[in-house]
Amino acid sequence: MDKRGDEILKQKIYQCYHCGNKTLMNLVGVHREDWGNEEFRGYIISQIYICPICQNATYVERYWEEGMIGANYEDDEDEKICYLVISLETNFVPDKIKTAYEAALKVRNTDSALCLIGLRRILEMICNEQGASKGSLV
Ligand SMILES: [Zn+2]
Repeated sequence: MDKRGDEILKQKIYQCYHCGNKTLMNLVGVHREDWGNEEFRGYIISQIYICPICQNATYVERYWEEGMIGANYEDDEDEKICYLVISLETNFVPDKIKTAYEAALKVRNTDSALCLIGLRRILEMICNEQGASKGSLV
């Protein structure tokens, strides 16, 4: 029998985007939803971890479906931190702006000055992307 997705770790190391520490977090909640039949199947495992340092929650989703090619280019499940939001789910933004925005999101709660500098940089990138040639940001 396929044991895919059966491993539920009570503790796992994650970056906490509330306090900035990379630490062993404690699992406090799990929900699993399976679907499919003998030919096609998949699952989503939703997990809530609590940071032992700041006591805030991180929500992690693990996703897999039969035959998928995940972010890791293997038939392995994908794992994504959904809360706090640290990624921009869109294809309508140029990659360099998306990458810069995601970098700013990651330090939003831990270094507001760095986040602000990042957001200003993104605003400049958008202006350049849209062909603005005169004036200043002000
Ligand atoms: Zn924390």
